[in-house]
Amino acid sequence: MRKPIVAGNWKMNCTVAEASELASGVRGALARKVAAEVVICPPFTSLAAVAEILAGSVVRLGAQNVHWEGSGAFTGEISAGMLRDSKCSHAIVGHSERRTQCGETDSDVNRKAQALLDAGLVPIVCIGETLDERESGQTEAVLRGQIERSLNGIDERLRETVVAYEPVWAIGTGRTATSEQVQGAHAHIRATIEAMAGSGVAADVRIQYGGSVKPSNAAEIFACPDVDGGLIGGASLEAESFVRIVEAA
Ligand code: PEP
Repeated sequence: MRKPIVAGNWKMNCTVAEASELASGVRGALARKVAAEVVICPPFTSLAAVAEILAGSVVRLGAQNVHWEGSGAFTGEISAGMLRDSKCSHAIVGHSERRTQCGETDSDVNRKAQALLDAGLVPIVCIGETLDERESGQTEAVLRGQIERSLNGIDERLRETVVAYEPVWAIGTGRTATSEQVQGAHAHIRATIEAMAGSGVAADVRIQYGGSVKPSNAAEIFACPDVDGGLIGGASLEAESFVRIVEAA
């Protein structure tokens, strides 16, 4: 049985005071045990404050990026060891905003994921097609290529890796994929992982959906058999809506 995982990607939002208030709201509402694994990913500047608030709770802490090197002359970067030291257990890599705005490639994503796994953190590896790619019938080929390159060499450790399927056209647009589109993509992702790492590993890998998930559509999306929770952007910036999505999982 795969445990669903719901992660909140706060992106470049929140002062330390705002992040603390939001984290306290999530922690307070999820004080009792929940069936899903829950992660919140504030900006780097709020990790320390949020870590203190989440200490002893069921809510885990994640980062939104990492560098693949352990230390050294990499101005402005943060290593996986530093994230672990800051009490992070997860980190998002390869978000489409970083791929398009910062030129992050599948090979960068692969190195980042491996660095996280080496440091004992769970990588949340984002993949997804653009609208042009979907409309020209390339969705499956694009996803296959992203998976093969981003997850190359991870093998058995794919069991500790989370994949987030995020169609680029559904992120922050209010346009959600239909449950047929979501299930189709997730089944294809699982089949691709099966071809790379075998059916046992593929059956254990958790695949989140992300893209305009809200309390009103979460239950339908999470009911798809190959969907194991969600990566939530906009709706994670309000404790109440994020908690309702967690409850749907
Ligand atoms: C995201 O940025 O990962 C995301 C899914 O955003 P939103 O929920 O706002 O579409």
